[in-house]
Amino acid sequence: MMAIAYLKVRTSQRSKNLYLRIERAKHETAPRREGHQSIGEVPMASNVCVLGAGRMGSSIARALLDCGYPTWVWNRTAAKCEPLAALGAKVAPSVRAGIEAAELVIINVLDYAASEALLKRGDVASALAGKAVVQLTSGSPRLAREEARWVEAHGAGYLDGAIMATPDFIGKPETALLYSGSRDVYEKHKPLLFALGGGTSYVGELPGQASALDTALLTQMWGGLFGALQGMAVAEAEGLDLATFRRHLSGFKPVVDAALFDLVDRTNARRFAGDDATLASLGAHYSAFQHLLEACEERGLDAAMPRAMDMIFRQALSLGSMEDDFASLAPLFRNGSPRRAESQSMHSGNTKRTATCSCRGVELVLAGEPRRAYACSCMECQLCTGTAFSYRAIYADSALIGQKGETRSWRRTGSSGQWLEQTFCTTCGSVVFMRAEGLKDALSVSVGCLEDPEFPPPTMLHWPHRKHKWLCLEGVPEAAAS
Ligand code: NAP
Repeated sequence: MMAIAYLKVRTSQRSKNLYLRIERAKHETAPRREGHQSIGEVPMASNVCVLGAGRMGSSIARALLDCGYPTWVWNRTAAKCEPLAALGAKVAPSVRAGIEAAELVIINVLDYAASEALLKRGDVASALAGKAVVQLTSGSPRLAREEARWVEAHGAGYLDGAIMATPDFIGKPETALLYSGSRDVYEKHKPLLFALGGGTSYVGELPGQASALDTALLTQMWGGLFGALQGMAVAEAEGLDLATFRRHLSGFKPVVDAALFDLVDRTNARRFAGDDATLASLGAHYSAFQHLLEACEERGLDAAMPRAMDMIFRQALSLGSMEDDFASLAPLFRNGSPRRAESQSMHSGNTKRTATCSCRGVELVLAGEPRRAYACSCMECQLCTGTAFSYRAIYADSALIGQKGETRSWRRTGSSGQWLEQTFCTTCGSVVFMRAEGLKDALSVSVGCLEDPEFPPPTMLHWPHRKHKWLCLEGVPEAAAS
């Protein structure tokens, strides 16, 4: 019955047939998704207004018209609405008129600034009450959150979307659009949203989540694309042609894909220590990675990206992660890369912490956030602290913005053959910080001296095989044998 009622509002027989074909094709070919409704459940068509008729906005409007939705369009340059009018769209004389005519408002303009310029005007804002707003303009999670607050404060429901396709893919069964924000809006308008792409999914109720997932997926893509640029430079510098590179790239791809999904699964399970399932230890990766640095140097290639990757490798390896899985690098990205943490330490005046000894004669003032915090239950740390493990935070030297009080330092050679130096108060003996040969331009501060119970937890326990049997640091991954 619902389907019959729905068909009555179709504007043309062509649209009716196409809509049914698309819906049937989706049912026959696509795996049943969380958001997919059966054709019998299709509700009455919504009036929809598309604000913006650029490349993407026009494609969205065409897909809606193809599926028979009564569609209003508005564009700053009115001429771009004409081809859509020829397909049956109604051209709104103003943004307000378009919103008033529709139950659902889709926005697709260049950026959020352009979108704000359209919506945040008294006459337009007051027309939003009771409407559903679907923002398909690309933006950041923060912009999505702010927009959701503003739209909801004006009495409308808000759904933020990320389009994972180019305009020519809009309306296809495999095309993915990600949505987050109002679940009510998503559920109510699901058939219309699926008309834009059969791979549509709802990511979560926090408005920024669709945009965050979009950014996360694109980040992985950019990593691969930048990597390909560096790889092509190396190949060509050694006289290989890019057709050869391409051929071998496709043969290597299944191996890379397997490593990629393994990395995500291990990070999700916080399985950072090397084990029987580890595909290659961090040490093995680093050894092979040296060849890239060498090739760049020898052939005079730009090595800005490899050097940044080298810093990340070395930061992990200086903490004894040689046998860990590649996934053990993941915690470094939670606290920011070494470079980012360093610049935050240098430039962010927001956070300041003071480390003091027991008698408070020594004071270290630290600005910004640490690169990372760690725990270690090696015998040297047990002897140094007089307890079962150390808990320290690595700060860039540049984060140390003040120091007072008399200290002395004692240097020893660690199991790696490199020196480590403990610095303590000459009066009470508290070890306030350490330096290490492998820790370039940084110091390792005793977290207990910071007197901050909210301080970030350790991201790794080193030397776990030396730990006391009772010791269990919940949620803290253990490094492989150091
Ligand atoms: P486009 O072809 O350049 O269209 C831009 C649209 O924004 C036009 O309708 C334009 O109006 C309008 N606009 C720009 N500034 C405006 C302002 N100050 N006030 C009112 N309207 C304004 O761009 P597009 O490719 O369609 O992209 C639109 C959105 O979709 C972007 O956020 C983009 O990131 C996103 N997106 C695009 C793709 C893609 O492959 N194209 C893929 C995913 C997401 P005029 O016609 O008057 O200039």
